[in-house]
Amino acid sequence: MKYSELVELYERLDSTTKRLEKTYYLSEFLKKTAADDIEQVILLVQGRVFPSYDEREIGVANQLVVKAINIASGTETEKIEKEWAKTGDLGKVAESLIKGKKQSTLAATELTVKKVFDNIRKLTELTGHGSVGRKLQLIAELLSSAKGAEARYITRTILGQLRVGTGAGILRDAIAWAYFPKAVEKVFVKCGSCRSTVPPADSCVECNKPLEKEARKAGTAAEGKEENTAARDEYNTILDRIQQAYDLTNDFGVVARKAKTEGVKGLETVEIRIGTPIKVMLALKSETVEEALETVGKPAQCEYKYDGFRLECHRLGDKIWLYTRRLENVTRQFPDVVECLKKYVKADNYILDAEAVGYDPKTQKYVPFQNISQRIKRKYEIEKMAEELPVEVNVFDILCYEGRNLVSQPFRKRRELIEKIVRSAERKIVVSKAIVTGNEAEIEKFFKQAKAGGTEGLMIKALDAPYQPGARVGYMLKFKKVMENLDLAVVAAEWGEGKRAKWLSSYYLACRDDSGKLLEIGKVSTGLKEKREEGLSFDEVTEMLKPLIVEETGRLVKVRPKIVIEVAYEEIQKSPTYESGYALRFPRVIRNRSDEKGIGDINTLQDVERLYRQQKRQKA
Ligand code: AMP
Repeated sequence: MKYSELVELYERLDSTTKRLEKTYYLSEFLKKTAADDIEQVILLVQGRVFPSYDEREIGVANQLVVKAINIASGTETEKIEKEWAKTGDLGKVAESLIKGKKQSTLAATELTVKKVFDNIRKLTELTGHGSVGRKLQLIAELLSSAKGAEARYITRTILGQLRVGTGAGILRDAIAWAYFPKAVEKVFVKCGSCRSTVPPADSCVECNKPLEKEARKAGTAAEGKEENTAARDEYNTILDRIQQAYDLTNDFGVVARKAKTEGVKGLETVEIRIGTPIKVMLALKSETVEEALETVGKPAQCEYKYDGFRLECHRLGDKIWLYTRRLENVTRQFPDVVECLKKYVKADNYILDAEAVGYDPKTQKYVPFQNISQRIKRKYEIEKMAEELPVEVNVFDILCYEGRNLVSQPFRKRRELIEKIVRSAERKIVVSKAIVTGNEAEIEKFFKQAKAGGTEGLMIKALDAPYQPGARVGYMLKFKKVMENLDLAVVAAEWGEGKRAKWLSSYYLACRDDSGKLLEIGKVSTGLKEKREEGLSFDEVTEMLKPLIVEETGRLVKVRPKIVIEVAYEEIQKSPTYESGYALRFPRVIRNRSDEKGIGDINTLQDVERLYRQQKRQKA
């Protein structure tokens, strides 16, 4: 493929900021790109010669390009620099100077996409003595053969400044439009003027004439609403398949080639490759343990949530790769982790998902992520840094083992495997601390233990769930409530409604001040069960409160303060509603503490004030 054809695409992409137009131009171009050229084209369209996760960089300084322009155009460097200062765009300078020269001399050989791609890739491979001269040669060779706008785009690519606005969404959609025309046509429209099939818009992306409403209707398969929905679904399924294949490979080139040569089947059989990072599975947030259990099911696996950074660890034989959550290759920065993996993981072919967490080498206590974040970008004195800011690797998932892709295996199986192959060594590498339970009180206890252990809280995970790369799905939920629970007195209650009419189902809570006076701080009605077998029930609490009733007005009853309950909540807010001046957000009953605590032992207003201040600091 001629490079000039790609340049034509660059110019079309540059001519618009509209997403649909860009997608259309790119898809039309992909349609005519041969399978063997696809991967290079997709990379070059992103201004790259390696996928984003690859650590190799072109790394050419502006000055070297100035010299290359000097060689290719015969223009003095001073003049080039002056022009550059005027326009601020070395690409444009290269174009105009080389164009000027070309008018008087004969054009050299025509550039191909492959030639440009290969020369730029070679730039990344040259190091050491004489490499600068060799780099200069490679750039000058390209610029000398460049015609018109070619020089502009070559220069911008080499300098990492090719910005034609083709983000991940556009690439994904363009692959669908190019290779799955049947699914796409149904949600597209036929232009009455040029007969092209184009995305719905006010005007045709191909000929610019206004699109008629009727044409749009036909194109969106709107003969019946249902059919339209079915067409949408089919189209969305294609987009999902492409996205999933991308989440596994992180390379749209590989995905596009598969789509072109093998269709949907090809996308579904895209395989994980050890060494190529996979987008990690992300967590949803849960406000309460109950909510988390509802989402992931009971029993669930609860793990410490370590405050470090995600580390995807790949091993194939002697080679190890480490990637961050953003898929940056950080292998070089963590020789200590490489060492640990080799020593403590009994397998030589795997992908592990883990959290690296820093600890203080003197106290051995975990330190917050901020303390060790500098290690990620560190380029020199790496060994020293590893000693000063050591990390412990907490392994919590496995995606691939001995050549087997495990993402569709249930989590419990993956966890069993980690426990089998990782030999835990504290402050080096460990399997994340976990319990399996469906009991809320046990989880609350484990949460406290996790906080006391210097972690952020818990991750609550579904035992039967697969690993869903790149997605924020409900297979794992973070639960990092910042506040400690309060023990409060029940001072009033309300009869419930409907099927809860026989119970006192919401309770007014109070803390106490120094003098022992009780001050209301909120009302709670969640956390209790309808059946006794499930835990502390409405019925039990009603029975405890009934003999304590001192006054009844409508549904409201005032009770003698005797019952103490432990309450969890999300936040303390200032509030004029309650006498204490504070209110609890999302309060939930955890358990009855009346057997261990009297009214004199409940939390004080001072405690509440302290927690309120602490929470403010944490938010800041
Ligand atoms: P957040 O960054 O607040 O969305 O929380 C999710 C992150 O917690 C994940 O991306 C991991 O980096 C981190 N994490 C810490 N411990 C665990 C664990 N045991 N399981 C899963 N993720 C964990």
